[in-house]
Amino acid sequence: MNDFSDIQAVMVPREVLEDGQAFMRAAGKMGREAMVLWAGKKDSSTFHVTDLVIPEQRGISTDDGVCVIVEGTELARLNMELHKRGLKFIAQVHSHPGAAYHSNTDDTYAVVTRIGCFSLVVPDFAIRSFSFRETAIYRINRAGQWLDAPTSLFHIAGEGGYYGAC
Ligand SMILES: [Zn+2]
Repeated sequence: MNDFSDIQAVMVPREVLEDGQAFMRAAGKMGREAMVLWAGKKDSSTFHVTDLVIPEQRGISTDDGVCVIVEGTELARLNMELHKRGLKFIAQVHSHPGAAYHSNTDDTYAVVTRIGCFSLVVPDFAIRSFSFRETAIYRINRAGQWLDAPTSLFHIAGEGGYYGAC
């Protein structure tokens, strides 16, 4: 099954959230965006995130702003590594200097592209603790469009209940 559109809940360990946030915050202190990836396993309609993956990346600044680049070869290497362990990517998470939204570049050059996968954008260079409430969340549909996805799909693993639904 190569499609994650039937996933109705994503369980994420708190340390995956906080470690990713810390990485993006450190990059932000140097004025750079950063990206982390969540990997794990699907169990019927629930996805269990097990690993925070930090790809080799390059933050660049242009007159138009900043962006983060992951080379195709690095992505292929990571996919191979995950495949060996029976894991798959479910989401990419990246920081923005200011507001959290999916830019045209984010739509076009997404790193994680499997149908039903997620893209989360964290505002303000991840300066605060991770919060689903202030994170912009998108999901890619069968037509390849990134659409808003509800916070209520995400749960902190082991802590039960919904987190930050509003
Ligand atoms: Zn972006």
